[in-house]
Amino acid sequence: MKIRQGFVSNSSSSSFICQITNEIFTGYDCGLEEHGLVQCKKGHIFQESLVLNEKEYEKYKDELYENNNKDDEDEDEDEDEDEDYFCYETNNPIDTCFCPICSLTHISDSTILNYVLFKHNLDKESLIKEIQIDYKTLDDLYTVIAEEETEED
Ligand SMILES: [Zn+2]
Repeated sequence: MKIRQGFVSNSSSSSFICQITNEIFTGYDCGLEEHGLVQCKKGHIFQESLVLNEKEYEKYKDELYENNNKDDEDEDEDEDEDEDYFCYETNNPIDTCFCPICSLTHISDSTILNYVLFKHNLDKESLIKEIQIDYKTLDDLYTVIAEEETEED
């Protein structure tokens, strides 16, 4: 009888979401890098193509890569098979100056909501109640929002 050993334990499914585009990346045995994703030091995950200051980032990345390889050489000189493997997710989160989320180049809807609540001294619960009292369905609400948007010009 053939038993497929370790099928489940060897391949781990992973799934990441780009916090800027909301695109979902899934695969087996994949890290962030395989999906073209990076993580900043504050934990934001996004597509590497969206980094800020691209030229500086390339330099920064080269330096990180070199340092990473130096460390590897010190630790185990025999194993140079993995020298091209550069793992962002655990060892090398990138500096926040390259992160569109940290620098407010991209502001998420939830951050905007928090800002509006703070700015206008509102609390979310009473806002929800207000909406529920004034409108019966989401369609009702969007009819009004859409009308007000077109009236603006
Ligand atoms: Zn960030």
